[in-house]
Amino acid sequence: MKIVLASSEAVPWSKTGGLADVSAALPKALAALGHDVTLILPHYSAVSAARGATPPADCAGPEIDVQVGDTRLTARLLILPAESPAHPTVILVDQPELFDRQGMYVDPETGKDYPDNCRRFVFFSRAVMETCLKLQLDPDVLHVNDWQTGLIPALLQAEYRWKPGFSNTASVITLHNLAFHGSFWHFDMPLTGLDWHYFNYRQMEAWGNLNLLKTGIVFSDHITTVSPTYAAEIQTAEFGCGLHPVLVEHSSRLTGILNGIDPEVWNPETDPALAQNYSVETVHQGKPACRRQLQQKLGLNQTAEVPLFSMISRLTDQKGVDLLCECLDEALKLDMQLAVLGTGDRELEAALVAATRQYSGRVAVVIGYDEELAHQIEAGADIFLMPSRFEPCGLNQMYSQRYGTVPIVRSVGGLADSVVDASPNALEDGTATGLVFSDYSSEALLSQIRRAVRLYHDRERWHQLMDAGMRKDFSWTRSAREYQTVYEKAIAAR
Ligand code: ADP
Repeated sequence: MKIVLASSEAVPWSKTGGLADVSAALPKALAALGHDVTLILPHYSAVSAARGATPPADCAGPEIDVQVGDTRLTARLLILPAESPAHPTVILVDQPELFDRQGMYVDPETGKDYPDNCRRFVFFSRAVMETCLKLQLDPDVLHVNDWQTGLIPALLQAEYRWKPGFSNTASVITLHNLAFHGSFWHFDMPLTGLDWHYFNYRQMEAWGNLNLLKTGIVFSDHITTVSPTYAAEIQTAEFGCGLHPVLVEHSSRLTGILNGIDPEVWNPETDPALAQNYSVETVHQGKPACRRQLQQKLGLNQTAEVPLFSMISRLTDQKGVDLLCECLDEALKLDMQLAVLGTGDRELEAALVAATRQYSGRVAVVIGYDEELAHQIEAGADIFLMPSRFEPCGLNQMYSQRYGTVPIVRSVGGLADSVVDASPNALEDGTATGLVFSDYSSEALLSQIRRAVRLYHDRERWHQLMDAGMRKDFSWTRSAREYQTVYEKAIAAR
């Protein structure tokens, strides 16, 4: 199958969240299954350079012309050929005026979205179509992700269907987070180049605005989201962020596929960031070494016996950080340590930083984005906290299990699909891998923290939880096969 994936971010080039991990790992897993895969991304040159990912000088390909509203823009395609047939080709669309900025979606100076985000991602969506034409990619499937590429299925249906190479192309959109709609005032509609008649409540309009996520949902041949539970949740008012009626209407084309994790990046046996690598057989030697490294790096007391709790997250309302802040004083009456890495909401940052002053040596908080430290926390901690309000898939609970770090999660979205609670039955049959709770309340989280401390000191049970988590199959191969089935359905639906 010829598959073109379009995404607004992918590691190593750019990343604000889980989308970047998925956009890098899924194309690799699909290529490894024998498909011909091309990944198309915007080239955020400053962001990529800051991440140490600069494309080689000899990768400049042809130019494309892209019409956005009444302006014609030129972009250069930077083509990174597949390293082997089992790898994707990566194309970076280089348009410095729109993408060579300090931030990806948000201006770091103002903390606000770039005012021309609609123009930027309409450009990128059209650039993906023009790239397919220019390079004669003739895709069987165009797989788009989130609002930034949500216009593509509409462009395919309304404008490109009759152009060379698109007559049989099917489109699939993956929804990574319903909270981000790509909603812009109605006067941005002419930027899309599509006729005003598409601006109606059944297609591109929502609440009087242009809505690019809804556009993608409505025009795609198939819709996926990143876990089976989230696929059901987003059809309800509680989780659907206002788009639930649209998702209910299109539910026969909606499938939940749990993300996998990239074993080349998240593997304690080979992870270069760790003081000592370990496997499920050697975790009880490796983890203590990683824990000492982490405690030393973060200025935590070098005690071996206390459970070390951790969190790596965008510090936002979504992630349940408010629950942690609310119960922190009570929790710290227990003999435990806490390491937090994250950035986001200034108030949540300040509340966490205040705790480091009060509980010096027991609580460490790093405000910032630090991938090496994220790996070291996953390896060095004993317990990982994810009390999310909602969580489409979540990756850290899977990384945690892979690293023998027992997750405490709220039973929502992908967390519910990837962690098995340590109930008496699940402990008995060996399937338990973490602690799962339902109520979105600090009392419920606190009671799980207490439960984790009790279980932690039952060494046999604890080792059983670590062991079961480390042995779980979170491979992308499993997810990629499910995507392959969805692609086949989308092609058949055409
Ligand atoms: P989301 O996409 O909602 O932010 P996910 O759990 O799906 O949440 O993915 C988050 C990804 O971003 C994980 O790979 C996580 O390790 C990483 N991450 C989040 N915050 C930080 C941070 N401050 N430093 C390093 N990595 C981070």
